[in-house]
Amino acid sequence: MPQPAPERLGLLGGTFDPPHLGHRGAALAVLAQLGLHRVDLLVANDPWQKSGDRAVSPAAVRLEMARALVTDTPGLGVDDREIRRGGPTYTADTLEDIRRESPNTEIFLIVGADTAGRIHSWHRPEVVLALSTLVIVNRTDHAPDIPGVTGVYVQMDPVNVSSTVIRQRVAAGESLDNFTTPEVARIIAQNNLYKAQQ
Ligand code: ATP
Ligand code: MG
Repeated sequence: MPQPAPERLGLLGGTFDPPHLGHRGAALAVLAQLGLHRVDLLVANDPWQKSGDRAVSPAAVRLEMARALVTDTPGLGVDDREIRRGGPTYTADTLEDIRRESPNTEIFLIVGADTAGRIHSWHRPEVVLALSTLVIVNRTDHAPDIPGVTGVYVQMDPVNVSSTVIRQRVAAGESLDNFTTPEVARIIAQNNLYKAQQ
């Protein structure tokens, strides 16, 4: 009996505080260019490399916003396993969990160029790189090639948006049109996020 082709799953990990059009653009570009079955946004519970710098919004709100970003977008989804697991989020643990559950799934771990350059500072990076194919997407403010990091490069139409800029815009009372979706903007307003200067 011929075996069915393994599922090709993309994962875009992040804090998503908040999620924005750059995240969606990156996920869609990789979905299309690598012919994946699905790309899930993987919402970190406690992004331990970031959590010292500022108060990260509650995981439940970041999850709600991530779901709002991809709702009605075919091929994109959200994976909440890191939040369900709790504690500091290590991608290596997440990939081991998925591998245990679905041994035949081929995992494509999507990172922006800024994140790719830091991958060796992650917890157990060798496990991350062994269990997934690293996919690096360009980001406007970072060099597109990352010396010393092997991965598949996907060129996307650059989307010059970051969560940091969105938080600053909210604090300054500026519009989020063309930065994120109206649904995400509504959740930000409802929860009074980012009102203090970031
Ligand atoms: P912050 O400004 O708070 O760091 P961010 O916009 O970088 O937020 P993250 O949640 O840190 O968003 O990013 C998750 C992943 O998405 C990272 O791999 C990051 O490189 C990638 N990414 C974020 N914004 C873009 C973008 N505009 N284009 C391509 N990739 C992006
Ligand atoms: Mg970032």
